[in-house]
Amino acid sequence: MEKNIDKKEPIQGKNKDSNEKDSVLLNAQSLRNKAEFILDQKNTNRSKRIDILSNEEILKVIHELQVHQIELEMQNEELQRTQQTLTVEKQRYFDLYNSAPVGYCTLSAENLITKANPMAATLLGINQNELVEQPLSHFIHPEDQDIYYLCRKKLLDTQKQQHFELRLQIKNSAELWVYVVASIEKIAKDSYELRLVLTDISDRKIYENELHRIAKYDALTNLPNRTLLSDRLYQAIAMSLRHNQPLAILCIGLDGFKDINDRYGHEVGDRVLILLAERMKNIMGHEDTLSRFGGDEFVAILLNLSSIEYAIPKINHLTEVINQPININDMTIQVTASIGVSLYPQQEHVDSDILLRQANQAMYHAKLSGKDKYHIFNTHNDDTLRYKYKFIAGMDDALEASEFHLYYQPMVNMKTGKVIGVEALIRWHHPTKGLLTPKEFLPIIVGNKLTVKLGNWVIKTALAQMEHWLAHDVVLNVSVNIDVLQLKENNFVVNLQKMLETHPSINPENLVLEIIETGQIHDLEIVSKVIKQCQILGFSFALDDFGTGYSSLTYLQKLPVSCLKMDRSFIKNLQNNPDNILTLKGIISLASAFRLDIIAEGIDTIEHGEILIEMGCEQAQGNAISYPMPADELPGWLETWKAPSSWKNAMP
Ligand code: C2E
Ligand code: MG
Ligand code: MG
Repeated sequence: MEKNIDKKEPIQGKNKDSNEKDSVLLNAQSLRNKAEFILDQKNTNRSKRIDILSNEEILKVIHELQVHQIELEMQNEELQRTQQTLTVEKQRYFDLYNSAPVGYCTLSAENLITKANPMAATLLGINQNELVEQPLSHFIHPEDQDIYYLCRKKLLDTQKQQHFELRLQIKNSAELWVYVVASIEKIAKDSYELRLVLTDISDRKIYENELHRIAKYDALTNLPNRTLLSDRLYQAIAMSLRHNQPLAILCIGLDGFKDINDRYGHEVGDRVLILLAERMKNIMGHEDTLSRFGGDEFVAILLNLSSIEYAIPKINHLTEVINQPININDMTIQVTASIGVSLYPQQEHVDSDILLRQANQAMYHAKLSGKDKYHIFNTHNDDTLRYKYKFIAGMDDALEASEFHLYYQPMVNMKTGKVIGVEALIRWHHPTKGLLTPKEFLPIIVGNKLTVKLGNWVIKTALAQMEHWLAHDVVLNVSVNIDVLQLKENNFVVNLQKMLETHPSINPENLVLEIIETGQIHDLEIVSKVIKQCQILGFSFALDDFGTGYSSLTYLQKLPVSCLKMDRSFIKNLQNNPDNILTLKGIISLASAFRLDIIAEGIDTIEHGEILIEMGCEQAQGNAISYPMPADELPGWLETWKAPSSWKNAMP
C-alpha cells in the first residue's frame, strides 16, 4: 500500500535533492497524496464498511501533517522576514538613488531619457518629471555633441563601459562640466538601455583652465609668458618664410630695476612693470607679440616689416615710452632699457631658440656698453659673440678663483615651525661688481658647457657643506637647483654617484634635486628615465617654479618627482590679484591628487604665510622666514628661529 501511495506522481521534472525548498515541496506533495488516498479509500469503502487503514496508520499520517504544517508556518515566517528585508533594501536603494550626489540617468536605445534621479535633473537643469522622453542630446553643449556620439558608438560597438567628460548646456545658466561613466545593459533579447552616471566636475575644470591660463600668461602683467612666446615665435618664423617678410626679435631689459625694487619696495616695482607693459603693448602692431620673459625682461616679436630698417623706428618708439616718467604715490620714477635685437632671416639657418639667444646676448652687449641703448646682433660682426665668450671665460676663471658661493635659504613647516630643509642658491662675490645674484650671470651661459661645470660645482659644494654640518650634528635636507641641460648630460647619474661616494657619511635621501627651467624639457621620457635612475640611488626630486611652465599637468603625469615648489610669482601678487588664490588652490589640490609634497616659494610677509596655511599649504620658503644666508650663519639661525604665533594658530 505504501508503495501504491508513493507511486502517485511526485513533482514533475524537479530534482528531488535540488534544494531545501524542493524537498519541502516534495514532502508536501507526498503528504497530500497520502491524505487524498485516505479520503478516497474512506469514500469508496464507506458503504462496504471496510477499514483499509488501521488507526495507527491514520494517526501517523495526521502527525506527519501536523509536522508539515509547523514546517510551513516556519517557512512562511522566514518568507515574511525576507520580504521585510527586501522592502528595507529597496527603500535604501531609492533613498540612495534620490539623494545621491551624482546623477543617474537611464536612456532608451533611441537615446531618450527614461529615468533620472533628482541630481541628474539638477545637473540637466530641468524638473525630474519633465525629463522623461527628452533626448539627452538636448542638454549637451553643441561643441561636445561629437564627444557624446563617439563615446556612445564606442559603447555600443565594444559593449565596454566608457568614461568621458563633456559640457552640459543649461538654460539661463553657466555651462556645467560633467564626468560621465556610461554602460550598456541588455533588457530583452533585442533591446538595451544605456545607464549614465554624471558627476559635476565644474570646480576641477575651473582649476584646470586656470592652470592652462597661467601656463601661457604672466600673472603680473597678463602678457604672454615664455611658453606662449615660443609658440608665437615658431609661427612668426613660418609666416615670415611664407610671405617673404623679415621679422625682428627684441629682448628688452630694464636697466637698474633691482634698485627700484630695493629703494621703493616690490609693490612699487610691480606697478612699474605693469605700467611699462601696458605702454609697450599699446604701441605694438596688432600681429606683434609682447611677452614678459622674466623679472625685468620683455621680449617683442615685430612682424610685417617690409624691410628690416622698419624695426628701428619701432625700437626708438619703445625706448621713448619706457623713458617717460612714471608717477606712483607722489613719486616720479624714470626707467631706461637696454634692447637687444636679432633679425630673421639670416644667411645661416637659425631656429627660434637661436634667435632668442642672439637677442638676449645683444641685450647684454647693450647693457655692458653703457645701458639705455639698443644693439643689433650681427653674425658678421661678432662683437656680441666675442663679448659673450669673454664673459664666460671670466666666469670660468671666477669659478677657479672660488668667487662663487652657495647661500642657503630655509624651508619650513609654518604651522609646526619645523625646518624641513634648505635650498642652496648660487652667488658670485665679484671682485669689482660686488654680490651678484644668479639672474645676473646664469642667463649668459645658457646652453654653454659652463652650465654643467657650474652645476657639478654646486652639487659638490652642497655635499661638502652637508658633511660639514653633519660633523656638527646638523642634519638637514639640502635642495640644489639642476638645469635640464645638466640632467640630460650623458653621464649625469654616474657623476652624481661618484660625487656621493666621496662623502660616504651622507644619506642621499637628504639631497633633493630641484629641476629648474622645466619649460625647456622637450624630451620628458629621457628626463623621466634619469630621475628614476637617481631615485634608485636614493635622491629625490622637486619641480621648481611649478605653475609657470606650459605643460604643468603633463610634467606631473610623466615625471616621477615627489615635491612641487609653487612659483613665487603667484604668492608675490596675492593681494593685487585675487585670481592667484584660485591658481594656488588649484595647484595645492593637484599636488594632493598626485600625493606630492608642496612648498610655497617667496613667502615675503607673515600674511602670505597665513593665507597659505588657510589654503592647506603648510610648507614654505621665503624672505619672511629668512633671506638666503651664507652657510656659516645657518646653525645660529636654526637655534633662534621660531614660527610666528599667527602661523601656529592659523587653521587650514
Ligand atoms: P629658485 O630656485 O626658484 O630660487 C628661489 C629664488 O627666490 C631665490 O632667488 C630666492 O632668493 C628667491 N626668494 C626666496 N624667497 C623670496 C621672497 O620672499 N621674495 C623674493 N622676492 N624672492 C625670494 P635667487 O637666489 O636669486 O635665484 C634665482 C633663480 O636662479 C633660482 O630660482 C634658480 O632658478 C636659479 N638658481 C639659483 N641658484 C642656482 C644654482 O645653483 N644652479 C642653477 N642652475 N640655478 C640656480
Ligand atoms: Mg629652486
Ligand atoms: Mg623656484
